[in-house]
Amino acid sequence: MASGPEESGRERIVQASSPSNDADKLAGDQALEERAQDMTSNEEIAAKARSKDLRPHRFQDYVGQRAVVDSISIAVMAAKKRGDTLDHALFHGPPGLGKTTISQIIARELDSQLIHTSGPALERPADVVGLLSNLKTGDVLFIDEIHRLSHAVEEYLYSAMEDFRVDFMTGAGAFAKSINLPLQPFTLIGSTTRAGMLSAPLRERFGLAYHLDFYSTEELARVVTRSAGILEVDVSESGAHEIARRSRGTPRISNRLLRRVRDFAEVRNSGTITDAVAAEAMEIEGVDALGLDRLDRLYLMTLSKNYQGGPAGIQALAATINEDQQTLEDVVEPFLLKIGFMIRTPQGRRTTADGFEHIGLPPRLDGPTGQGTLL
Ligand code: ADP
Repeated sequence: MASGPEESGRERIVQASSPSNDADKLAGDQALEERAQDMTSNEEIAAKARSKDLRPHRFQDYVGQRAVVDSISIAVMAAKKRGDTLDHALFHGPPGLGKTTISQIIARELDSQLIHTSGPALERPADVVGLLSNLKTGDVLFIDEIHRLSHAVEEYLYSAMEDFRVDFMTGAGAFAKSINLPLQPFTLIGSTTRAGMLSAPLRERFGLAYHLDFYSTEELARVVTRSAGILEVDVSESGAHEIARRSRGTPRISNRLLRRVRDFAEVRNSGTITDAVAAEAMEIEGVDALGLDRLDRLYLMTLSKNYQGGPAGIQALAATINEDQQTLEDVVEPFLLKIGFMIRTPQGRRTTADGFEHIGLPPRLDGPTGQGTLL
């Protein structure tokens, strides 16, 4: 093809802006190529991470919590059959037990869009009014940590949940005007670690309310085996049980420990996770045979040693350990209560005989007993 003046002109410009000698040009090309490769590997990493999403996507993949799954799946099927929106639902229980996961499954099974927000994110009434007015028919609004909604924001939810409308004021003084805004029918799903902190009017507006409990070792072993399959990790049955036993009854911890044990197995061993490999890796992580981590043991040691087994107030304990009170109440205490290492009394927290024994201290003779333990 004959090159016209315009084309040769363009060629010149290209040449002028390109590296003047061959070595520079080569280096430039190589850098471009490396960047392109970097981008591909970043995309590959992102795609890999996405394909290794450990969250179950359907009810049949959701391990355990049978009573909850049976009840909510019937409610979902009935709502779909009627062509109606699902009743508002509340999930409560300690962190990491699958409240967000089951909410996502519900939205998926309803073929609805899930809008994810949290109590602390909805600071001003305008935030919640904006969010609600943008909802489409059948949308699922998921509010995590719903107990942390401010009172002012919460009040807008009452009429929104009950009558699908919000009333709000615009302007001020003589220009103040009350506006009644109709909303599209939607489903609110609230998630909380503190059902007790929810106000009665809000709690009463949930037609469905479920408590998620800690998982059994068998159930967690199933979670580990399922996740190992997705992560393409080789884990023996006894290895899965070892991880499950140390997971504090919590699937999120099972998945976290599985990843740590996998790293350990890949670096130090053949890559297969046996019970011995799992136990060694978790000892290094500071997770003991019952699944207690450093913070759990520090809490128990402080209550048992500094406060001679209590009774001690939670504020005093939090100050001594230098840890956030809410973390102790939401994360540490539920599991210690569950395994009977401590009790809550009106006077304060107390270590049980089992709790003393676990950290190698002699029990107090006037102290409470643990579950199934006689002093
Ligand atoms: P929460 O909202 O209660 O804090 P999540 O729903 O975020 O907990 O769950 C934490 C992780 O644990 C999820 O990423 C998921 O992989 C896993 N998980 C939770 N529940 C289950 C379950 N029933 N079956 C399998 N995996 C689960």
